[in-house]
Amino acid sequence: MAYDPNNVFARILRGEIPCKKVFENAHALAFHDIRPQAPVHVLVIPKKVIRTHADITPADAALIGHLHVVAAKAAADLGLADGYRVVVNSGDRGGQTVPHLHVHLLGG
Ligand code: 5GP
Repeated sequence: MAYDPNNVFARILRGEIPCKKVFENAHALAFHDIRPQAPVHVLVIPKKVIRTHADITPADAALIGHLHVVAAKAAADLGLADGYRVVVNSGDRGGQTVPHLHVHLLGG
């Protein structure tokens, strides 16, 4: 399946759709999920186009690690010192609905 350049996270990255931003740098954006499944539900996405977890390559290793660094910082900043879940859904049969790689941070 090709990457849809108009998927909702691509549009958020382009500033066409607003988001409640938690963190942003040159490589990643973290923002609150619009339909939270927990008191804290943040999505961490790469700015690089990666459609799904299955598309990750060895060249992405540092970037994928960085997404987890961002998730850990967001967890600390949002008061999840007691613990949290980190989830990545991949592909149609893995529950992925938005075709731009994202890490769910769930806690509280
Ligand atoms: P997935 O099911 O692909 O793993 O997760 C996609 C997530 O994106 C869902 O939790 C959904 O609530 C969230 N989402 C979908 N559209 C928007 C949006 O426009 N803004 C934000 N902040 N989250 C969205």
